[in-house]
Amino acid sequence: MAKAAVLVSEGVVETREVPIFEPEAGGALVRIELGGVCGTDLHMIHRLAYEYPLPIILGHEGIGRIEKLGAGMDRDHAGEPIKVGDRVYWSPMVACNQCYTCTILESSPCEKAAHFAEADKPSWCSHADYGWLPRGMPFFKVPEGASLDAIIALGCALPTAVGSIDVAGGIKFGETVVVQGAGPVGLAATLVANVSGARRIIVIDNNKIRLERARLIGATDTLSLEELTPEERKNAVMDACGASGPDLVVEAAGHLSAFPEGVALGGQAGRYCVAGLWGAAGEVSFEPRQLVLKNFSVRGSMAPRAKHYYRALHLAVDMADKVPLANLITHRFGLNQAADAYAAVTGGEAVKVIFDMSIS
Ligand SMILES: [Zn+2]
Ligand SMILES: [Zn+2]
Repeated sequence: MAKAAVLVSEGVVETREVPIFEPEAGGALVRIELGGVCGTDLHMIHRLAYEYPLPIILGHEGIGRIEKLGAGMDRDHAGEPIKVGDRVYWSPMVACNQCYTCTILESSPCEKAAHFAEADKPSWCSHADYGWLPRGMPFFKVPEGASLDAIIALGCALPTAVGSIDVAGGIKFGETVVVQGAGPVGLAATLVANVSGARRIIVIDNNKIRLERARLIGATDTLSLEELTPEERKNAVMDACGASGPDLVVEAAGHLSAFPEGVALGGQAGRYCVAGLWGAAGEVSFEPRQLVLKNFSVRGSMAPRAKHYYRALHLAVDMADKVPLANLITHRFGLNQAADAYAAVTGGEAVKVIFDMSIS
């Protein structure tokens, strides 16, 4: 039997034993080593995000070693040879590659993406010590000697930032970037801006611990939501970026009020990459005229594709010894402390919470 953190009813998580399944042809069974906790797990615990069956294993960010390979599997999804014992990192989405979005638009989310199954069925959820990766689930070999902590430190936020910034047109050398929110997606966007050669990277949040981490991974300036008025933040951004304003604003705040401020902060011919508002239903007023006057583009994005997971994996591996990525992990729990792990995410002290299956 495997051990897993299982959501049994709204707000109630238990550590349970669940069956281990043989891999299917084209799939793999993974012995999970680290599983990141993401805000989406909390949405699921409080049943805010979308419909899914109960009981269900939580977690969609994982790294582990191949325990068994399904028939026909000898390569990962980037064509690298793979064998039992190799470490892999996976994208939790199985695209069908047979729908209009997948095939014609070459976009996401897939209209027929497989969803998480009940806890007693084969599951690729990562808050467990075994994960069953179905046929078609993109997984990638982790290079030998890579820092696992660095890879899991930003979790699904790194592919999210890589994917969102990609669809918003990327970041060119010498551009100026504002990041709204210094949670994992904002920190990931800061890292992407850093390696892309952004000249100024200005990060806005109200959490001092997170703003400090943002500086460590590339923010050139940080602005407090609490201590500065919107007017003062705007002035600080203009001082840093010049009179035409920032080239790119990345919304990673997940709060509706970020949107009108993001439009107001955006520069002439600037772009606005809206990455964090998927869970923030509701309305907010803003002045559409600003889009016209500034020749301003707004681009929303969700559900990074497999290539973004691959790029994120290698970005984390390559940057692990250049910026203190692994230090973004502030809390580490075993599966037996599942409730504590989810509670830690909502505490103001947490940057990244992970499950480490070596903790009993
Ligand atoms: Zn996530
Ligand atoms: Zn599809």
